[in-house]
Amino acid sequence: MITIKNLSKSYGKNNILKGINLSFEKGNIYGVVGKNGSGKTTLFNCIAGIGTYDGSIDSEFEDLKNHVGLLETNPVFLSRITGWEYLKLLCAARKVSTENFETQNIFELPLEQYAETYSTGMKKKLAFMAILLQKNDVFILDEPFNGVDIQSNILMTAIIEELKKLNKIVIISSHVFSTLSKICDRIYLLKEGKIEKSVSKEKYAELENEMIQDIVQNKIDVINL
Ligand code: ADP
Repeated sequence: MITIKNLSKSYGKNNILKGINLSFEKGNIYGVVGKNGSGKTTLFNCIAGIGTYDGSIDSEFEDLKNHVGLLETNPVFLSRITGWEYLKLLCAARKVSTENFETQNIFELPLEQYAETYSTGMKKKLAFMAILLQKNDVFILDEPFNGVDIQSNILMTAIIEELKKLNKIVIISSHVFSTLSKICDRIYLLKEGKIEKSVSKEKYAELENEMIQDIVQNKIDVINL
């Protein structure tokens, strides 16, 4: 379990997260939705132990950041490092054995090639594979499906569902509501640095309708098609 209390984060004078209270339980998949700039990535970085913040993030893990696999929206790789080398480096960081590695290349990535030369989707799959091989307890996936082909999308979704069965905590942001509503146990709506809504499965349709009305109707009227 991860418990976040009164989490606030500012960049200079810009107050991005404003007293967030949240909890994440094992064996559950959580969605975080919100407009661009609402603070999703900032929240994820705080949980992953990147940067400072006010408030508290407690968990059953001794040092939470060593149990979190963070898949960034746009993973960046060191230059002149191959896919294999990247996977080995990340596993070494967690002291995970890299034996039988060759058989685990489920996304069929060109692992001998420099990772910086990969396409957007391939980079994402490599970074995702690395955090899986690390055998993390918590997976934070920031826009995991962006730029990824349909076959990999299906495979990633199945893996996420398997992680739930393995009692992991999975937190996902996505701009595709249907993806989240299919797999998430709960969806948090982040608005202007605050959790505006915490929605359970039975109320997803209601949330989607509210969002459609709030976002679409006003804009369509304005553009005067
Ligand atoms: P989201 O992931 O929901 O799109 P972010 O957490 O990336 O939102 O960004 C929230 C706000 O914080 C934005 O206004 C963004 O410009 C600002 N921000 C993010 N990172 C930084 C940074 N390193 N320095 C200054 N401002 C930042």
